[in-house]
Amino acid sequence: MAARFGQEFGRLPDGVWQAPGRVNLIGEHTDYNEGFVLPFAIDKTARVAVAVRPDSTVRLLSTYGDHGMVTADLGSLDAASAKGWTKYPLGVMWALQQQGITVPGVDLLLDSNVPLGAGLSSSHAIECAVISALNDLTGAGLEPEEMVLATQRAENDFVGAPTGIMDQSASLRGSKGHAVFLDCRDQSAQLVPFETEPAGLVMLVIDTNVSHSHADGGYASRRASCELGAEVLGVKALRDVRMEDLEEAAGLLDEVTYRRVRHIVTENDRVLQTVELLASAGPGSIGALLDASHVSMRDDFEISCAELDLAVATSRANGAIGARMTGGGFGGAAIALTPVTSEQQVRAAVVRAFEEAGYTAPDIFTVTPAAGAMRIS
Ligand code: ADP
Ligand code: MG
Repeated sequence: MAARFGQEFGRLPDGVWQAPGRVNLIGEHTDYNEGFVLPFAIDKTARVAVAVRPDSTVRLLSTYGDHGMVTADLGSLDAASAKGWTKYPLGVMWALQQQGITVPGVDLLLDSNVPLGAGLSSSHAIECAVISALNDLTGAGLEPEEMVLATQRAENDFVGAPTGIMDQSASLRGSKGHAVFLDCRDQSAQLVPFETEPAGLVMLVIDTNVSHSHADGGYASRRASCELGAEVLGVKALRDVRMEDLEEAAGLLDEVTYRRVRHIVTENDRVLQTVELLASAGPGSIGALLDASHVSMRDDFEISCAELDLAVATSRANGAIGARMTGGGFGGAAIALTPVTSEQQVRAAVVRAFEEAGYTAPDIFTVTPAAGAMRIS
């Protein structure tokens, strides 16, 4: 990467930083209900090679696509004029400026192998690599939780995406062989052992290549249902509704709102159970929870789609011990926790099932729980 940087910018970078994409193991739509999520950092990363400049100019280049070099001035960073992928690095610089950190001009080369738009958070991988680099280069000494909030500000207020803290928490705080148990109320994070290989398992990601076309409207309406549910039940957030309160809630809510609430309440419970089981019995014990999570999203929260359901059902029928859609829904990817001995069978069966259904071919790959953001040279 240093060589490519040299070709493009005519000198060597000051360093190279990387940050991973993430997969959410369990805990869907619980984040904005102040609940629990359990993502893990994956072995696919965005890398940035960066050299500080003596002026306030930023030059940005990605090895992906045909974007060409983009130049910006740190004195006039502005969300409206930032285009394409450069919103992510420029958003991070803007967010740091907002909190009074002097960001130097830089030359920056991005090289990422996190698939775009597959629900693995390629955008946060970029932001987390960039903030790690700038944190080191400026000597700002930000703690991971401060970097989490700065990247959230970049996404919310510069990129314009109403995202929470899950993706960047996984990318910044992840650790090899672990998942990151996050409490979205107090934003505390705890590492939970999650190693697939010693358990004879692989985590398959099945990207359906169905784009989240209903995602915006569907997301907004699910959020609204959750807010309505919390209001009627008289709680600050659905996090405060316990499993044993559900029966009473059924009498207070309309049928659809009740099912939305039931998904959030049971999903929070499943995250807690998954954390306990991973610590006490290992990943081979969580299959039923993954399955139940999918059923809840399919039937109660209604955010699955035919392609995701087929990926999940086919994986299960061919040896996966548990499978669920992951991410916001209405498309994107499913995960299937699969014995390594069944991996080929699951892959082949899913490809065949998609072919027979006349769906676009899925992309299937494995991920392992990997390290969070770091400097690599
Ligand atoms: P996700 O984060 O789920 O992958 P997003 O739509 O949030 O999907 O982010 C994808 C965007 O991130 C792309 O449209 C592109 O702007 C940017 N991006 C991701 N990886 C790269 C890359 N290697 N080079 C340039 N831009 C990238
Ligand atoms: Mg994203």
